[in-house]
Formats: sequence, structure tokens, C-alpha cells
Amino acid sequence: MEQLERSTHKIKTVVNVLLDWFATNARDLPWRRTTNPYAIWVSEIMLQQTQVKTVIPYWQRWMRKMPTIAVLAKARPEKIHKLWEGLGYYTRVRNMQQAAQQIISQYNGKFPKNFDDILSLPGVGRYTAGAISSIAFNQSRPILDGNVIRVLTRVFAITTDPRERKTNAQLWRLAEELVLHASRITHHVSPCSHLNQSLMELGALVCTPRSPLCGDCPLTKSCIARKKNLQETLPNLGKREASTARRFVAFVVERSGRFLVRQRPAGVVNAHLWEFPNVEIPGAPASCRPVSTSSKQHAGKMPALPGCDFHPISTQPLCTIRHSITRYRITLDAWRAELTKPALKDSGSWLEAAQLRELAFTAAHKKILGHIMAG
Ligand code: SF4
Repeated sequence: MEQLERSTHKIKTVVNVLLDWFATNARDLPWRRTTNPYAIWVSEIMLQQTQVKTVIPYWQRWMRKMPTIAVLAKARPEKIHKLWEGLGYYTRVRNMQQAAQQIISQYNGKFPKNFDDILSLPGVGRYTAGAISSIAFNQSRPILDGNVIRVLTRVFAITTDPRERKTNAQLWRLAEELVLHASRITHHVSPCSHLNQSLMELGALVCTPRSPLCGDCPLTKSCIARKKNLQETLPNLGKREASTARRFVAFVVERSGRFLVRQRPAGVVNAHLWEFPNVEIPGAPASCRPVSTSSKQHAGKMPALPGCDFHPISTQPLCTIRHSITRYRITLDAWRAELTKPALKDSGSWLEAAQLRELAFTAAHKKILGHIMAG
């Protein structure tokens, strides 16, 4: 009983402190100036896996070009892909369009208010449904994302892995207790919305993954991790999976001012986006280079590229792009090249530079396009 009172007291303290802190420390983000559920939904989907400063111009442009659910529902897929170009994880934007069509057909075009209805929309999981319900409608629905997990595991010293079922359920319960308590507070406006946003904001600005700013933290007195000096070890995410290096070669083939490009098929990563023809070099060492047929010089050992229809025609790659996708560290060398046999009908499309600019490319291949335009 005593323990229960203690923990209720702590919940109340954390909620009150966070609401006061948020009132004076919240960043002025464009989607915080509205309670339009559509606008908040767009921001939440964009913010998955993407930083706030990257999202701001994307969100602003999106809201100008796709101001309503009805406009999104009817938009051409190429248009929404182009608006999303560079944000990655393109399934998100396709799900958004399907969800917009569902809202038109099932809810007369009005964004649903009921939590289960929001949760039934394509691409909307428990976190996003909680974020929209609380931020747009001030409903007492919990949220749990990476930032919130970090704050909660530290303040309450939860030392087990938050990805484990039991710990994850414990964290959702805790997030729910906090927002339920916030819903009873009358001296703050939109307390459920602000409580949830304050947890995310504290995790983003103060309770950061490395070197959290405990000295500036409003929760310093309540935080067990801080007292026990555990803040750098929580959340306990176990060992990271080792990353794997992968190497690709892309071919920039030009004929009479037109470039050979192709669209990625459905059901693969970056489906429907455009790219230059490319192949993976399985098991290639980091230093390998294809042989340039024009110079006959080996810039490195040429790995076998079975079935490859391209020959590099330059002595140096046009550019080398390095990026990471999930656990893969990818290196992509782009070479000016020629076809070794006549292009088959289904090998891609021959398009002019102006046309390429209108298409949505994968992030790495957009950089190759940038080098072509600059060169
Ligand atoms: S005191 Fe430190 S570890 Fe605890 S919540 Fe604040 S920033 Fe995070």
C-alpha cells in the first residue's frame, strides 16, 4: 500500500514537472501550431525514422501541395513519391494514401476521432494512433517511441530490455498511467497532448542517448538512473547486431542526351522509385573496382559480374556513395558505361535530364543524378 502511494506520488510529480517544463521549453514546430488531425498525422508519419530538422521543409511542402485528405486520396502515385523523395521508407507514403482513401470512403472524408478507427488505418500502429488521439484530440492515450522509452527506463530505472514483451508491456502501462493522470489536470491546456509531447521532447533535447543533460533536466530529482549513475547504461538494448558491408556498382549510360533508368518493382525495398541500372558485387572487398574498358587499367581486381550488360567507359567512378540501410553499410560506385549488347525492351526507360528531375529516385541514386547534372 505504502509502495503504491509512493509510486502514485511519483507519477503525479513527473506529470506536473513535465507539463510545467513543456509550457516554457517546447520547440516551436510548425505542426505544433495546429490541432488538425490530418496535419498531425502527416508529421507523425514523416517523423518515424527521420529527424525533426529534416522533416520541417518536407512537412511544409506537403501541406502546401496536399492540403487535405481529399487531395491526398486522389493524388497520382508519382506525385506523392516525388514529395516524399529523400525521406525513405516509401511504404509509409503509400499507406498514407490508402488511409486517406479509407477515410473518404468510410468516414466521409473526416479524420476519425475514435482510437480504434484511427488504429485501423493502413500504416497506423499503436504509437501513431496514440500520438494522433492525444495531440489532435487531447485523448488520454499513451505513446511509446524511442525517446519515451529512454526517459521512462531512466526515470523509473527499468533495467530489462524494452524490446522484451514483458518490459514493453510494463512501459506501455507506465506511459498510460502518466497520460491518465495528466487527463485529470485542469490548470493546463490540452494536458494529454502536452504530456505526451513533453516526454518526446525531453528525450529529444535533454535525455539524449549519449551524455544526457541531467544538470538541465526538470526530472533530475525524480530520476533513479541519475541517482544511481545508470543513465548511460539505460535503456538496456543488449548487444547491437554487427553491421554488414555491401558493395554495388551503378551504370550511367547515355545516348543522344537520354539516360537509361529503371523503376524498382513492387514488393522490394524502395519499391516504385527510380534508379540507374546497378548490380551488387557479392562478397566484394571494400577496395574492388570494375575494369575500365577504355583505359584497360585495373583500378583494383575486377570481380566477376555474371550476366552484366555494361562496360565502364571511364577511368574513375563518377562518384562513390556511402550510406547505411538498417544493418547494411552500402558503398555504391557509379560509372559512366556503355551497353555490351542492344538494350532489351524491359531493361528500362531512356529519358532526358529534365524528365529525370521529375521522377522520385532512391536517395543514393538521386546523388548520382546530382553528379550528372553538375558535371
Ligand atoms: S535526470 Fe538525466 S537520465 Fe534522468 S531523465 Fe533527466 S536527463 Fe534523463
